[in-house]
Amino acid sequence: MVAGDRDPGNQRSQDIAAYEAALTIAEETTPGAVLQRVVDLARRVVPARYAALGVADDSGRICQFMTSGITPEERARFGPIPEGHGLLRELIEQRVPLLIPDIAADPRSVGFPPGHPPMRTLIGVPLVLGERVLGNLYLTERLDGEPFDVRDLQALQILAVHAAAAIDRASAYQRVEAQRDQLRIILDSLPAGVLIVTAPDARIELTNRALTTMLFGPASPPGRLPVYGRDLRLLQSDGTPLLHDERPSVRALKGEVLHNQQFLVESGRVQHIPVLTQAMPLPNASGEVERAVLVFQDITRLREAEQLKDDFLSLVSHEVRTPLTTIHGGAHLLLDQGEALSEQTRHELLCDIVEESNRLDRMMANMLVLTDVMAGRLAPRTEPLLVEPLAREVAADVAERAPDHTFVVEMPRGMPAAEGDPELLSQVLHNLYENAVKYSPDGGQIRTTARSNGCTVTIEVADQGIGLDPGDVDQVFERFYRTGSHGGVRGTGLGLYLSRHLVQAQGGKIAAWSAGHGKGSVFTITLPAAREWADSLEEQLAATANPR
Ligand code: ADP
Repeated sequence: MVAGDRDPGNQRSQDIAAYEAALTIAEETTPGAVLQRVVDLARRVVPARYAALGVADDSGRICQFMTSGITPEERARFGPIPEGHGLLRELIEQRVPLLIPDIAADPRSVGFPPGHPPMRTLIGVPLVLGERVLGNLYLTERLDGEPFDVRDLQALQILAVHAAAAIDRASAYQRVEAQRDQLRIILDSLPAGVLIVTAPDARIELTNRALTTMLFGPASPPGRLPVYGRDLRLLQSDGTPLLHDERPSVRALKGEVLHNQQFLVESGRVQHIPVLTQAMPLPNASGEVERAVLVFQDITRLREAEQLKDDFLSLVSHEVRTPLTTIHGGAHLLLDQGEALSEQTRHELLCDIVEESNRLDRMMANMLVLTDVMAGRLAPRTEPLLVEPLAREVAADVAERAPDHTFVVEMPRGMPAAEGDPELLSQVLHNLYENAVKYSPDGGQIRTTARSNGCTVTIEVADQGIGLDPGDVDQVFERFYRTGSHGGVRGTGLGLYLSRHLVQAQGGKIAAWSAGHGKGSVFTITLPAAREWADSLEEQLAATANPR
């Protein structure tokens, strides 16, 4: 028997059809699919030609509209979503079912929009959930041509009750899904590794991108899952293993909160990553701790920075003390016994004081720039500059304090200007000349030349000193690096490191070369040629290529 037949004893079978229909609604999870299923099923429960379902917003306006029994073309013909006037509004505002034998004759009817198929009979119910009206569900034109009756209405109401619950459930489900997606985006954008574990055995349920990167490296597929316990082993800060009960996940699942505890993460990729750890129990609605969240902040860089600061401070205090001792001792001697000293001794003491205070001055200048470099604050002001006069000026300054060395600056005529920052370049040259003097204990020539290929300008500083072993050539630009053959010469291992940063900040490169130990060293600085010069060179080349 078909549901909705006009057999008077058929109410039961129509209601059963409504219940059965309601059960199948629950199979759908997305709101759109639920709505479509409801509107289609309504025509099966109450045989009608057309069915429609309007979803109302908080103000009662219809914001979504589904139909059944109408072709897309027919639907397109009667225009936009019906906002819910007349009888349809009645369903939502009055929350009462409607059984209308003749739509046109009903005083509440506002008629149909142009292009709407002709309809005479209507049965409609509000979709109500608790205090809220979610929308309306209505059918028109009973298939047998008769008006709808109370049995139809009863079956439709059964369907409506279940439909309202299913619609609410599906939209809640969709909201939860959207929130979960948002949460995943938030978690993946965090710089710290996040881990959610579940009771009772601290099984890993969720990890974020930072954690998988920490464990498997930056090339790991985003959100690689699952991460197993064996992928993430935590050790004490000193490298000793953690006992089961000491693990932050286990402690947090027991309700304990951990703040800023330091551990080491042992992953297959990197030996040990120092992490600052937070762990927090996540109680469920009834207060039981089913999950815990752990947050791991990689503090490798922080540790390195601390180490660097310590090395730097101890080095600086050591380096500053030596010239200060000379200055302090010399000044006291002159003050206390100046009259008794010979003219020559007094002169020598004064020379030492001047030299050591100059050294301090240069060291401080380097330190200041170094702090800017380390803080990423170095902002070079480049301009077209002629390297020859600059090199001569710096060479003359250093030469004053290096009587055993001969400074030669020889550059070809017509050298293009370089694009550089005069202050930074002169500081680099100072460092190179000072080194050339320091590491040529027997004196000799310190020769500066330059060359250009049109695009770049290369300055070359060559000395005749102790030279460099091939293995040292690249390393000398590393922080604190000093070769094994510096021969007791005082130094910090920072001058060339700084020089490399200063040259790179100007868009250039610095390199070292040596024919070997005892055969002198060559340092080259390559800077871009000044733009005007490069432009005019291009013009000249174009003119020669296309003579008029
Ligand atoms: P510092 O001279 O204060 O030690 P630098 O960073 O200027 O630090 O130089 C790093 C190391 O490179 C020096 O300690 C020295 O071993 C080597 N070096 C630098 N310049 C020369 C040079 N002209 N000849 C030979 N070795 C040099």
